Parts: sequence; C-alpha cells; structure tokens
Amino acid sequence: MSGFKESEALFERSKKVAPGGVHSPVRAFRGVGGVPRFIKSAEGSRLYDVDGNSYVDFCMSWGPLLFGHQDPEIADAVKGALSRGWSYGTTEPYSLELAEYITGQLPWIEKIRFVNSGTEAVMAALRVARGATGRSKIVKFDGCYHGHVDSMLVRAGSGLAEMASPDSAGVSKNVAGETLVVPLDDLPALETMFQAHGKDIAAVIVEPIPANNGLLLPKDGFLEEMCAIAKKHGALVIFDEVITGFRVAFGGMAERTGLRPDLFTYGKVIGGGFPVGAYGGRRDLMDLVAPSGPVYQAGTLSANPVAMTAGIAMLKKLKRENPYARLEKHCDELCRKLEKASAAAGVKDIKFQNYASLFWGVLGSAKSADGFVRAQTQIPENQKERYAKGFHSLLSQGYYLAPSGFEVSFMSTAHTEQDLDGLVSAFVKGLQ
Ligand SMILES: *Cc1c(COP(=O)(O)O)cnc(C)c1O
Repeated sequence: MSGFKESEALFERSKKVAPGGVHSPVRAFRGVGGVPRFIKSAEGSRLYDVDGNSYVDFCMSWGPLLFGHQDPEIADAVKGALSRGWSYGTTEPYSLELAEYITGQLPWIEKIRFVNSGTEAVMAALRVARGATGRSKIVKFDGCYHGHVDSMLVRAGSGLAEMASPDSAGVSKNVAGETLVVPLDDLPALETMFQAHGKDIAAVIVEPIPANNGLLLPKDGFLEEMCAIAKKHGALVIFDEVITGFRVAFGGMAERTGLRPDLFTYGKVIGGGFPVGAYGGRRDLMDLVAPSGPVYQAGTLSANPVAMTAGIAMLKKLKRENPYARLEKHCDELCRKLEKASAAAGVKDIKFQNYASLFWGVLGSAKSADGFVRAQTQIPENQKERYAKGFHSLLSQGYYLAPSGFEVSFMSTAHTEQDLDGLVSAFVKGLQ
C-alpha cells in the first residue's frame, strides 16, 4: 500500500464542488470514516486507485458487474455500439432485441419499459399500480430500499397503523403519508394494515431478498403469504428485483420462488454496468403506460443504444454460462470459511448471512429468536462500529468491501480462488 495522499487531495477538491464530495452518499465513507479512495481504473476483480494501490473489489459497482470489471464480451459489444452513435432519440432495434429477449426468457414479463435507473423503474411501477387500481396508498416494508423515490424514503412510525414519517428532508408529509410501512418478518402486521387501509392500498412493494440494509433473509413462506394477503384485498404486488434480478438466478426471485406478482422492477445487472432500469409484468397493466394508456412516463435517454447493447451482451452471456450455482457455492464456502476463522480466533459472535452471490457479515448477536437477522430491528447493536474497523483493516490489506456495515458484498465470476482465500487471510489478520 502506498498511502492515499492523492485520494485525499481529490476528495478535498471534490468537497468544494459536490455535496459531501460525492454523487451518491455512501461513497463518501461516512459509514466507516476515513478518506474514500479515488479509483482511476478497474479490471476483472480489481480496482486501481490514484495512489497506485489495487484492491480486490467485493462491491462491484453495487451489483451490476456479475462478470467483474471490463468483461471482454461486454466491452466488445459496447465498442461496436459506440461506432454506430450513442443516442438517437427515436426508435431503434437494440431495445427491441433486449425487450424480446427478456420477455422471451421470463414469461412473467409480458411487456417491459426501459428507463435509466432502478429509482425510475420503481417510481413508474408505483404510478402504474395507482393508475390501475385507482387507489393511492403503497405498502412497503421497513428496511427495504426502493431507490430515492420521494414516497419510498420513509421509515416505520412507532405504531403499527401509524402513517410513515419522512426519512429525508424535502419529502412532504402528504407524500410520505401515502406510504404505509410494515415490519419485515411480520405477516400479522401486514394483515392488520390491510384491515385498516385495505380499500386504499394500490400495491405492496418488496425487495424479495432485502439487500440494502444488510442481507435480511425472509423466512420460508413469507413472500407467498405476503402475496396472498395483498391479493385477497385487491392490491397489486411489486417485486423490486433491482438487486436480485439476473443475480440470484437468471429469472431472479420470481424464478427461485415460483411466485408471479403483478409488476417487477429491474436495474443493476440488467445494464451490465451501464445506467439502465426497467419495469414490466402483466400485459394489461403495462398497456396502461403512455402512449398506449393514460399513465405517463417518458425519458430523453431511455433505452440508450449503448446501454441496451451492454444489457444484451450481459444477459446472453449469463444465459450461456449459467454461473449461478457455481457463484452460490463459492459464496457459501467463503462465508463458512470466514465464520470458521472467526471462531478459531475466539470471536464467537460473527456470522455471515448469504444468499446466492450476496453476502453480509453480522457483527454481533442478532436480536431475534432464531439467530438470523430478518428485519432491520434485529441488526446487532455495534454493527456500524465493528464493521468500520473490519472495513479499514481489509482496505489496508487490499480488499474493498462496500463502505457501510449495512450494505451487502457482491461476488462475481471474476473473483479467483486466490482472491477469496486472500480475503479470508486478511480477515484473520484483522481479527488478530
Ligand atoms: C439499487 C436499488 C434501487 C435503486 O436503483 P438506482 O439505480 O440506484 O436508482 C432500487 N431498488 C433496489 C432493490 C435496489 O437495490
């Protein structure tokens, strides 16, 4: 490691021209303290910073890079796309190819609309749900993140049936009041919410594997029951598969659970690392979207041909290589090794929760009966402080994890056995 003087200098400059010096909050390292590293390039499993350090990257741009940085197949496709121009502002065959491919592979996506981010996808899906049902309220779960849509920036109020209060300045009480928040892992609370507000609830939105406040593993049957309760009350169900789509399986959690909610949102993997989001689902619902229906939604750069081409290359490679079982096995092995190493070092209260190629360290005892963290309120007391220490120990040894104890880590096919064993060794050193 050759220090981080250059990163520090750039961060100081950046703070003068951007809020907090960043363009997305977690990047500022507020969750772990210290100076964010300025990355000048990346390849395979590695990030390279401006001071000449390299890091094995377990953040992977927060999920999109399932094949690692600069995957050659995606790079070739993108270079080809660039040579044809990079924005036409009109109809083109590339989004058609991606739309036909997705609707062909995932039968529950009967129609799809491309946007530029996961946030946009959620915003539009909520609008469709309201347009379809004529109802105004949305149920979300405490601890699920659905992008920075105004109405989704809320946490649970203290009482069960209480209206949510905004989690961010600038979100009006009226907007926040349209959102009803229910604890995860609590079906009776969901039923009670529907008893109280059923006729006004347009949709329930859920991250089928909540992965934005740690990795909150739902109990078997939770998603099935949740869908059933919503249906009984005439509300739609939206699976926000922005993280899980094309990551936990090609068909995401819809494939893994067999559940068929009404609408889906995608992002992250679907663009291969370029800015893409999408929403889709039942044909009758999607036909409500402009210009075929009354629900307005548009985008100057939507279905950008370069991003669409990256997405096509990404998804076709995923389909062909089918890396899911292998990734899941490696991720599980890594987590068990990390747990074993903790136990061997006499640290008894570190556990790793993992699902497919996502993993998250639980640093302390889960505040739950079965020892698993399934809701935000079950996250151990000192998670933040302990993670910050571990993060900096690993960073100084050349391993980059998400700079927050409440974010998951992402495994990619670019991670070698050496990368994974190296992480375990670095972790052991950190424990000492
Ligand atoms: C990342 C994420 C979003 C927001 O996507 P952006 O592209 O960051 O706007 C929404 N929902 C879930 C589940 C996500 O993980």
